[in-house]
Amino acid sequence: HFDVLVVGAGSAGSAIASRLSEDATCRVGLIEAGHMPADPDIADPLKWTQIQGRDYDWAYRTTPQPFTANRVHEWPRGKVVGGSSCLHAMAYVRGHPDDFVPWEKAGGARWSYEGLLPYFKRSEAFAAFPAASRGNTGPLDVILPEEAVSPIARAYMAAGNALGAPKISDHNTSPLNGTTPNSLNIRDGRRLSVADAYLTPEVLARRNLTLLNGYEIERIEFNGTRAAGVLAVVDRIAERVSADRVVLCAGAISSPLILMRSGIGDPEALRSAGIHCHIESREVGANLQDHLLALGNVYRSKKPVPPSRLQHSESLMYLHSKDVTRAYGSPDIVLGCVVAPSAAEGLEAPAYGSAYTILCGVTHPTSRGRILPGGPTRSDTPIIDPHYLETEYDRLTFRTALKIAREVGHHSALAEWRDVEIQPGPAAHTDAALDDFIARAASTHHHPCGTCRMGGDDNAVVDPSLRVKGLENVFVVDASIIPQIPSGPINAAVVAIAESWAASAPSLA
Ligand code: FAD
Repeated sequence: HFDVLVVGAGSAGSAIASRLSEDATCRVGLIEAGHMPADPDIADPLKWTQIQGRDYDWAYRTTPQPFTANRVHEWPRGKVVGGSSCLHAMAYVRGHPDDFVPWEKAGGARWSYEGLLPYFKRSEAFAAFPAASRGNTGPLDVILPEEAVSPIARAYMAAGNALGAPKISDHNTSPLNGTTPNSLNIRDGRRLSVADAYLTPEVLARRNLTLLNGYEIERIEFNGTRAAGVLAVVDRIAERVSADRVVLCAGAISSPLILMRSGIGDPEALRSAGIHCHIESREVGANLQDHLLALGNVYRSKKPVPPSRLQHSESLMYLHSKDVTRAYGSPDIVLGCVVAPSAAEGLEAPAYGSAYTILCGVTHPTSRGRILPGGPTRSDTPIIDPHYLETEYDRLTFRTALKIAREVGHHSALAEWRDVEIQPGPAAHTDAALDDFIARAASTHHHPCGTCRMGGDDNAVVDPSLRVKGLENVFVVDASIIPQIPSGPINAAVVAIAESWAASAPSLA
């Protein structure tokens, strides 16, 4: 029996279990379907694209997407201690302060950028330069490895500057729009997962913290509106684990699925999956948001592309599509420079070392998708429908992003490297051709979120304290609670959510 049972040792769960167990009187259980990372490739920043699909990846797939040429999109997710932070690309981007205005509207000042700032700071160890808005004593190293940046990424940033994009110090001090190398979660040349940072051997040795790995949660069990604990499956054997409080940190796909398997959700959706509805909560699994990137605007290089010394994707460039010189406000598009050929499945991918890629995408997509259970048990394949590019705003903004990516790619600042454009290729110059290319090239940037939306309104899944509405002692604290996706990659925000919730947890009965 635990005082608090944290479900999922991913980005959020690792941070929460570590913080809650600082109080030696609090018995914390941390349950994880995966095991401790055993594959040395996880730690190698250069291998992040190669480790997808291995046995520690949940390897989800979406339904065919009508606006992306009916393609099924692969969604890797970590099934390992460290969760998706063991697979991620290590880019550390808090987001623009304005990104958190919808969060504040949903949950109050605590969820504004200013409200989250102490928790961003508490989580990070950033030493590149001193800044009041940065933390330098937290567990999660954030490096700004300017000296290691590829000459191609430097030329791409110079092209952006020549077109008027501002130069910025980094993505997390201020402002966000402009050119900078990526800030990364890397320590001594190795990936630093959130578990590496927070679940150190000293933390795991705490007597009041128990890590149960290899335990996959089937569902939460209730006495009325109180959770009694969870039903887990370990080595094919069902086991009950009881707790005073259950905190779901199973991520944006699994947290809503666990709730729905436990009978919390939209009654009709549950009925279709053969699940009895215990508590009606219509938006569980809804409000699904994700960033897409077009993979990509690929160029053959005149000379061999030097191998990346980082993680290939070296510089995200946030911009306003209507005025790339604008420094203020939250960006609406993003470009990225990959010092390797990066092409979606089905598109021509030149040999490694012979090409580089400019990525592009929309930072605030307005399409909203949904996750539904495929049946009553954890072995039923979920139905993941992100509704990619369903809105005209998303499609038109994406087209503009591709046009700006090509302006950067064709700029004289890259002349030393550029031979010919391979994708979409010189023949693609009409809007229709660009839209067709985007449909075939758009791929997840791996930021699904929003499926247990936080808010003060009746339909929100969790309230501003992140308690599941209708239940007394169940909380969701992970990427699911995000009401609206921030501009950039979301791991920094997920860790800040976890830090903020952990700080308030003792006061939550
Ligand atoms: P997760 O970290 O996914 O944790 C969920 C945990 O719950 C997992 O360990 C899982 O195994 C466990 N779990 C799930 N279901 C069950 C169950 N039924 N029983 C028991 N345990 C369960 N973000 C960035 O900021 N920068 C990047 O560069 C970046 N790149 C990415 C690249 C890839 C390939 C991927 C996959 C993600 C990337 N992200 C990036 C996104 C980022 O990693 C995630 O948003 C973040 O890790 C989500 O944290 P979470 O705690 O919500 O979920």
